[in-house]
Amino acid sequence: MPHVPVHRRLIPLAVSVLATCAVTAFVVVPASASTLQNTTVPRPAAAPQGPSVAAPTDAPAAVRSSAPAKVASQAVNATLPVDHACSSTLRIRAQRMSSQQLSSVCTSLAGQTAFFHNVVKSNNQPVSGDNNTSLEVVVFDSSSEYRRLAGSLYGISTNNGGTYLEGNPSAPGNQARFVAYRDETRSAFTVKNLNHEYTHYLDGRFNMYGDWNANISTPTLWWIEGLAEYVSYGYLRQPNTWAAGEALRQTYALSTLFDTTQQHDQDRVYAWGYLAVYYLVENSPADVAKILGHYRTGSWQAARTYIKQNIGTRYDADFRRWLLT
Ligand SMILES: [Zn+2]
Repeated sequence: MPHVPVHRRLIPLAVSVLATCAVTAFVVVPASASTLQNTTVPRPAAAPQGPSVAAPTDAPAAVRSSAPAKVASQAVNATLPVDHACSSTLRIRAQRMSSQQLSSVCTSLAGQTAFFHNVVKSNNQPVSGDNNTSLEVVVFDSSSEYRRLAGSLYGISTNNGGTYLEGNPSAPGNQARFVAYRDETRSAFTVKNLNHEYTHYLDGRFNMYGDWNANISTPTLWWIEGLAEYVSYGYLRQPNTWAAGEALRQTYALSTLFDTTQQHDQDRVYAWGYLAVYYLVENSPADVAKILGHYRTGSWQAARTYIKQNIGTRYDADFRRWLLT
């Protein structure tokens, strides 16, 4: 690690901090949008069960889901006139972005790639069968524009902070894409959840074999969302005050977090996912390597067995102590 990723021991604020955090609820991705040529099985609905503190109504969550692979190019071109190639593998489509804003997003994502690979020790080797060599980042000009247009254009629900659409990474012509928006609550140009969402792309390509439905065939959400938070906060060197506040409550045992699913609340999925990943990456990298070895080959049950039996409750006491350090 080039540097300590997160400063989580900060003043544990709650509600006021949450409003600036990523994350929130999961959404259903309809498979019937008329603009889609290829649709996939929608992920199951998981109505947010309500966090233990008030959630922002207009902010949260970057979500990940099964994806439509292609959309009607005519509608996209009319809605998103900005078409900018950061590189041969990264493209931005936007309603309105200046050249400087485009450049800053390109730079942020380019820098994050190396940070990610260093965390997960991927050797820059994509999982077998993953053809998602390129990513398209869609940026709507505000949360209201996202809600107004992204649903019809990409067939996604928009009561969230952005959506990563992996599609079927083994399908020819598949286009990985995340759909995001400018965070109009910030004075400086900011794409909501940019680095969280980008982590989902990298995680899907370099760690998680197959598509979204395969990825969550066992309880892997602690890893998927926890890693996205860990890499995002760490790369940006921002304090995760949400997780810091949760840590003081010592709500969950590490062994419990391994069972997190979409049915659980935002605190558990995001803040506690972050804490679980943070703890394991920094305190037990050999276990992370074992788990990722299974994830990368789609050996979901083997990973599950390792987590439940080899790790089990072994670290629970130390994790509980670590939460207060
Ligand atoms: Zn996410």
